[in-house]
Amino acid sequence: MTIEIASGAVLPIALCLGLLVGSFLNVVIHRVPLGISVAFPPSHCPNCEMPIKPWDNIPVLSYLVLRGRCRGCSTPISLRYPAVELVTGLLFMAIAWRFGQTWWTALHCVFAAALIAAAMIDFDHQIIPDGISLGGLALAMVVVPLTSAYYGTGWVDGLIRSAIGASIGAGVLWLVAFLHARISVAMGREFDHWPGVGESLPRPMEADYWLWFPGLGLGDVKLLGMIGAVVGVVGVLDTILASSVIGLVLGGAQALSKGALGEPFGFAPSIALGAIAGLFLPPLWLLTIF
Ligand SMILES: [Zn+2]
Repeated sequence: MTIEIASGAVLPIALCLGLLVGSFLNVVIHRVPLGISVAFPPSHCPNCEMPIKPWDNIPVLSYLVLRGRCRGCSTPISLRYPAVELVTGLLFMAIAWRFGQTWWTALHCVFAAALIAAAMIDFDHQIIPDGISLGGLALAMVVVPLTSAYYGTGWVDGLIRSAIGASIGAGVLWLVAFLHARISVAMGREFDHWPGVGESLPRPMEADYWLWFPGLGLGDVKLLGMIGAVVGVVGVLDTILASSVIGLVLGGAQALSKGALGEPFGFAPSIALGAIAGLFLPPLWLLTIF
C-alpha cells in the first residue's frame, strides 16, 4: 500500500516539507547545544532582538527578499540558514524520488534531518547530542520493525536487522577508537585534552579506559549505532568506509585552509555525507570504484 498523493505532487510536497523542516533544523542546530528550548522564546534577531515575523521566516524566500539582512537592523544573516533549508528540501525531494510513496520515505526523511542536525552541531561544537544519536537509535528500533511489518517482511526480521546494524555500526567505530587510543598510549603519544593536564591515564578498571578516546568521540560511535539501526549492516559498513574517505578529504581541506593540523574537527559531517550517499548508491558502492 502507498501513501495516497497524486504522483505528480509527491516531489513538490517533499521539497516544501523539507524546506520547512530545514527551517526548524536551523533552530535545533543553534539552540540544542546551548540547552535552550527549541519552542521558546520565538526566533529573534541576535543583534537587535526584533522577533522574526512569520512572513520574514519563509524558508529561503525570506532570505532572498530581505537580501540576507535583518529587517530591523540590517545585520547580515548567515548564508547557512537558507543553505540548511535548501539542502534539507532537496534531500527530502531526492528521498521521495528514491523510495516513492511509501513510509520508507517518511522514515528516511526523519533520518536525513537527524543527520543534518548532528553534522552541523558537531561542526560547530564538536559534540553530537545524545537526543539525536541515542534518541534516533531508540526511534529506529521501533519504527524500522513497524515499517517492515507493514510491508510484509515481518517485524522480527526488521528488529534483528536494526539491532545487528546498530551493533556493527557502533562496534566497528568503537573498536577503531579503542585501538587507536591504546596504541597511541603504548607508543607514548600525548594529547592536549586526554587525559586532562596532571591526570593519569585511564586504567582498565575505569570506565574511561573503555569509553573515552582522543580524536574519535563516543558521540560518533553512538551516531553510527543510530545509522546502523536505519540502514542495516551493509549500509553502515558503507557509511564507515565512505565517511573515512570523506573525512580525510575534509580534514585535509580544513588543515590547508587553517594552516594547522590537529585542530578540533567534528567527524559527524563526514559520517552524515557517507550515510546519505549510501541511500542513493548500490551496496558496497565505494568498493566498486577501486
Ligand atoms: Zn536585527
